[in-house]
Amino acid sequence: MTTQQNQLEQLPTIVVGAGMTGLAAAWELQQRGVPYVLLEAGDYFGGKVQSEPTEDGFLVEKAADAFILGKPWALELAHEVGLREELIHPREDTKKLYFLRGGQLLDFPQNLKMFVPLDDESFLQSGVLSPEGLKRMLDEQHVPPKPPTDEDESLASFITRRFGEEAMNFIVPLAAGIYVANPHELSMKAAFPQFLALEQKYGSVIAGSRATPRAQGPIFGSFRGGMSTLANAVAEKLTGDVRLNTPVLAVHPDGVTVAGGEKIAGSGVILTTPAWYAAPMLRQSFPKASALVGELKANGSVAVILAYREGQFPRDMHLHGLQVAADEGIHMKAITVHSAKMHGRAPEGHVLVRVFFKELEPQTACAEAVREVERLFGAQGEPLWHAYADWRGKNPAYQVGHLEHLARIRAALPPNVRVAGASYTGVGIPDCVNAGRTAARDVVAALGVAG
Ligand SMILES: Cc1cc2nc3c(=O)[nH]c(=O)nc-3n(C[C@H](O)[C@H](O)[C@H](O)COP(=O)(O)OP(=O)(O)OC[C@H]3O[C@@H](n4cnc5c(N)ncnc54)[C@H](O)[C@@H]3O)c2cc1C
Repeated sequence: MTTQQNQLEQLPTIVVGAGMTGLAAAWELQQRGVPYVLLEAGDYFGGKVQSEPTEDGFLVEKAADAFILGKPWALELAHEVGLREELIHPREDTKKLYFLRGGQLLDFPQNLKMFVPLDDESFLQSGVLSPEGLKRMLDEQHVPPKPPTDEDESLASFITRRFGEEAMNFIVPLAAGIYVANPHELSMKAAFPQFLALEQKYGSVIAGSRATPRAQGPIFGSFRGGMSTLANAVAEKLTGDVRLNTPVLAVHPDGVTVAGGEKIAGSGVILTTPAWYAAPMLRQSFPKASALVGELKANGSVAVILAYREGQFPRDMHLHGLQVAADEGIHMKAITVHSAKMHGRAPEGHVLVRVFFKELEPQTACAEAVREVERLFGAQGEPLWHAYADWRGKNPAYQVGHLEHLARIRAALPPNVRVAGASYTGVGIPDCVNAGRTAARDVVAALGVAG
């Protein structure tokens, strides 16, 4: 090993961004005894994960409000940082969901695995599609599988091919929701490889879902103090060089330049910001990777948060919320009644509602949210307060061919420089945690240091 290599290996690995991906990357480096510097542009940890207590006793989640337990990485991290006792789950006693179709609040079909009906009978009675649409969706069991192929396809192509065109109205809100995606552009291989695998293995998504047992116990988890609990707990346990209010301007093979011009030397760099921030940082030293990262697209959403007194509603508001049919012709996509879905999100006798829109001017979204809660649940009078989280242009969009594009990005970067996070390998919190830790392991392996 040369002296120069030795020197490089003594230098820290630099992690850019302290969202869940960056925090997980730093944590993994720390676990392996590898020195690191974590640089975050903002003045808090967690990035998009933002749980904000209000003075009047509500807890507002501006983005993620829960994480899926079937992908183990977020739960594992929570256990490692001592949050076992803080874990909570969506309430079972209020687990009522509606589907808004044709202006009617319909009971959500029972016995679904994501969007896949596990028994024909209850699905046929549900009314979430026309009788022909429901029947065609169930006929998926008899649609022959596509011959094995490596070619990607869009969510829309997959749904229409297997479940019929009308099924788009039911499946898209459930499947594409977290991606805020255009179903005609969303990559099946990147977003839903499990359904492609079921088609190949069992010949049908429905048959495959019915053949594989459903996990026992809760499907989602969160924390008493909200999702930021995880980010803050990891940050508190980081003993390395951690700097808030430190925007990175450029990434080089041997370190980064931060605002103000300081150059921080590093043996490797893990860049965990969304692609639209990463592309300019890579431009100077890695123009090809920068151009490829810059081609990744984003969609947008706006979450409106409304607080009410229980007495403003003529009906019981102990329900989880509703999903809106894709062809409903309104801007609103979904409502979560957060006060009923999770314990500790609103003071006794109050209701906290989150209303989701795709790209929409936030003031318009707030006005529409108030009108929709009045129309659908009969809310009387104005909300006690309203707030919004503006995620326009901030939801990574995985276009058809996404995985091949990622391979090109990886090939355009040296092994000690990695991009990781929601723009690349999954937007959910568990995927981001896994991405951060994997990137850390990759960089450690590339440097050949102990760990
Ligand atoms: C409305 C909404 C609801 C969601 N709901 C859920 C949910 O219920 N469950 C779930 O699992 N997921 C959910 N998600 C997705 C999930 O929250 C995100 O995908 C995830 O938090 C992204 O983490 P990240 O670390 O990859 O990126 P980010 O959280 O975007 O973190 C990137 C960090 O990089 C920093 N940064 C940017 N530029 C620089 C720079 N130049 N120098 C240094 N630092 C920089 C940013 O300040 C930020 O802190 C939701 C997302 C949204 C928008």
